[in-house]
Amino acid sequence: MPEHIERAAAVKIVLRQRKPTNSVAQNRMLSIIQHDLLTMCATDVAPVVHGLWMPIRESEMTGWDPAVAGRDPIGGYICSACKVEAVYDCNDEFVLSKYCPNCGAKMDNE
Ligand SMILES: [Zn+2]
Repeated sequence: MPEHIERAAAVKIVLRQRKPTNSVAQNRMLSIIQHDLLTMCATDVAPVVHGLWMPIRESEMTGWDPAVAGRDPIGGYICSACKVEAVYDCNDEFVLSKYCPNCGAKMDNE
């Protein structure tokens, strides 16, 4: 998987290496690297949103009083990022995928 870095951060690191004690050739090379970083083509990169599947009790979904019902099982799961409910598969089981199918959040929070 390709990794991405922030252009401004890379340029800052290069500029930090420029020192009066460097040789002219060293500082020239750093200027060339800086120029190359500033002129490289950029790609669109979206920040990763992290989330988790949060269980929702039936009492929260229906408003039932769990004391009257005598039980309060998990009635569903929602994405912590977008609050949309997880989908069901053809066996009526929740699909707790690694990414939210609605917002794309990566489900790796604890
Ligand atoms: Zn989501």
